[in-house]
Amino acid sequence: MESELLRVAKVLKQARRILIITGAGLSADSGLPTYRGLGGLYNGMTEEGLPIESALSGPMLQRNPALCWKYLAQLGRACLSARPNAGHEAIAELQRIKPECWVLTQNIDGYHRQAGSPPERLIEIHGEISPLYCQSCGAESVELSQHLAGELPPRCNECGGILRPPVVLFEESLPEQAIDTLYAELRKGFDAVISVGTTASFPYIIEPVVRTRQAGGFTVEINPSSTDLTPIVDVHLKGKALDVLQGLISHISGD
Ligand SMILES: [Zn+2]
Repeated sequence: MESELLRVAKVLKQARRILIITGAGLSADSGLPTYRGLGGLYNGMTEEGLPIESALSGPMLQRNPALCWKYLAQLGRACLSARPNAGHEAIAELQRIKPECWVLTQNIDGYHRQAGSPPERLIEIHGEISPLYCQSCGAESVELSQHLAGELPPRCNECGGILRPPVVLFEESLPEQAIDTLYAELRKGFDAVISVGTTASFPYIIEPVVRTRQAGGFTVEINPSSTDLTPIVDVHLKGKALDVLQGLISHISGD
């Protein structure tokens, strides 16, 4: 393990363009429950007997905003109750050392921003839990915690419309700008791709790894267990995102 870690650190030191892909495993080290997409917080079914994918869907937000918000609020409270960890900080540090290091995250908690990752090199492919905005007039509201403490669904101060977070709900499409940015950067190519704490087999997570490997780049997975990505990466660093990232950055920024 230690020698593998050193090998990865050595490659990253030389690399110019780096893509770090992060998933629920990284936020889990902050104490957030791991979830698949938005859903797995709840083991599949809601109290109402609905699949969580249906409760947290775009159509449900329109049809029954109070029900959808019941579960959005749980997500919001979970995100607000925890903080970025040393893994997020190690990634932000690597981005400081490497001006062409990008982060592609599936997480909606906003922890990369909070840890200091530059927004212009951060792709939040599933959106973010805040700021809320009004579906009727577009006004933004930054007071997520206040809204969560009040009546649900939260309403706009300006027009009384229903607020929502800029997250990608089930049955909604990915943010176009995030997809465009990702594929524009993929076309330029990456010297190295590191997948951290992600188990999701979405094409936009697998593809950067496959394309980088095919183009002769270096691919790494950081995860306590094996995933769909494991067979296709050069190195699997088995361990918690938090520990492995701290170890890596200490070797990269050390001298
Ligand atoms: Zn409004």
